[in-house]
Amino acid sequence: MEDIHVFCPATIANISCGFDVLGLALASVGDEMVVRKISKKGIFISKIEGQNLPKETHLNVAGIAGQAFMKKSTYQGGFEIEIYKQIKPGSGIGSSAASSAAVVVAMNKLLGEPFSPLQLVEFAMEGECSVSGIPHADNVSAAIFGGITLVRSYDPLDIISLNIPKEIYVTVIHPQIEIKTSDSRKVLSSNISLKNGIKQWGNLGGFIAGLYTENYELIGHSLKDYIVEPLRSKLIPFFHQIKLGSMEAGALGCGISGSGPSIYALSKGCNKAEKVASAMHHIYDKTGIDYDIHVSEINIEGIKVL
Ligand code: ADP
Repeated sequence: MEDIHVFCPATIANISCGFDVLGLALASVGDEMVVRKISKKGIFISKIEGQNLPKETHLNVAGIAGQAFMKKSTYQGGFEIEIYKQIKPGSGIGSSAASSAAVVVAMNKLLGEPFSPLQLVEFAMEGECSVSGIPHADNVSAAIFGGITLVRSYDPLDIISLNIPKEIYVTVIHPQIEIKTSDSRKVLSSNISLKNGIKQWGNLGGFIAGLYTENYELIGHSLKDYIVEPLRSKLIPFFHQIKLGSMEAGALGCGISGSGPSIYALSKGCNKAEKVASAMHHIYDKTGIDYDIHVSEINIEGIKVL
């Protein structure tokens, strides 16, 4: 195989109770990428469509993640990359993660899979680190493993694929304003109170128990964030109205997607997720801010060959 065309899913990180550790991949929203083997050594980005992003290898997360892969690989040739962007950078639905993860998955497939998915996450994290300043794995783990993932430990890296209840659907609204992960990290405090810690890890445990027992009520009760949401929600216009409207429309829970400005809601069943989407439309139509809304199943495969 000399070239490969892949779908790179959008991802929702944090999922309220799991800052920097939980992520899920969306089935119907994502970028595409073509990766081709070439004889010249190195990583070259030949085309980017859909968004204005740097083609220089050291400035694009795809180039940076690709180089991290090459450092550990014995392959003597190089790769040419074409990126077809749908996910707007700074959207909070893993635009940079889609490119960081897809490039290393595609390169690995072209070379006969010398690296494990966990090693691919480590390479992709270098792309994430280059733009956010922190080597976080929540989005790239969900993109690479698919489904819902937990980063149980960063050192050593340990990623767990969690059970996906059959009727879980995601609604996500993306207001068309950009919040860079690096900026939304600046509003965070590096200390948390023991009181908030207790509430947060109780909910993280409850969420995971809810996923395995397919207890939607428990999942809903657990989708709470006492640590990050109070600080970051201030950066997102009409966050509280969207949250209230989504809950009134029947969502199990609603919160900030990644570092925002996107807001996600989980629902039981597609009909509920569509109702939540209508409630979000109703609220945002009055704001004068452009937005997109997506209703999606959870993507169980992660990055897939097209
Ligand atoms: P998101 O959560 O949408 O990924 P980030 O702030 O983490 O947002 O990443 C967006 C930043 O990454 C932007 O500054 C963008 O220019 C930069 N970037 C570099 N390469 C890419 C790429 N291939 N895809 C998306 N963003 C990229």
